[in-house]
Amino acid sequence: MEQERFTLLKTNAEVQSRIREMAAEISRDYAGIPEENPLLVLCTLRGAVFFSADLIRGLTVPCEINFLKVQSYAGTRPAGSPIFELGERIDVRGRDVLVVEDIVDTGQTMDTVMRNFSDKGAKSIRIATMLDKPSRRYAHLKETVIPDYIGFSIPDLFVVGWGLDYNEEYRMLPDIMVYHPDAE
Ligand code: 5GP
Repeated sequence: MEQERFTLLKTNAEVQSRIREMAAEISRDYAGIPEENPLLVLCTLRGAVFFSADLIRGLTVPCEINFLKVQSYAGTRPAGSPIFELGERIDVRGRDVLVVEDIVDTGQTMDTVMRNFSDKGAKSIRIATMLDKPSRRYAHLKETVIPDYIGFSIPDLFVVGWGLDYNEEYRMLPDIMVYHPDAE
């Protein structure tokens, strides 16, 4: 049977509804955070831009927004240890940090980010991710890279849309689709 190149995983409406729930949960958890030291929301570029825009608009607590860029993927395969391209110098000392990620896969990227911010004295670090692929987590990160807020846990599939790309394509697809690069 011929394999479709894209198959639907989550509709736009499902994602939006889940984001509203996540924003409510995050707002409850950070209720009472002071205006003088607001939640520092760090959006990872470029994949999490769409997700974080909707998530942040749903937050009801004081927050400040900034951006990170950590490079780790080429095509559908991990390309070695992640490196900070942007955001390494953000001052996180004494801050409650919420890292907003598109997808947590092997866990390398979030491990790099959490270590970096922890070394720099962040008061707390949590992760909100649109998607999580727990079955792909590197064994040594299974206990340490556990996102605090997860939109959807998914199996080991390569997905695009809602900000996620394949070699910079398909980010703007409104739904989350499974991508099969070898399909006709
Ligand atoms: P990790 O460091 O956890 O292995 O990978 C995190 C990064 O890999 C994500 O921010 C994302 O850029 C990329 N990634 C992992 N899985 C997928 C996927 O299924 N689709 C896309 N488009 N990117 C992915």
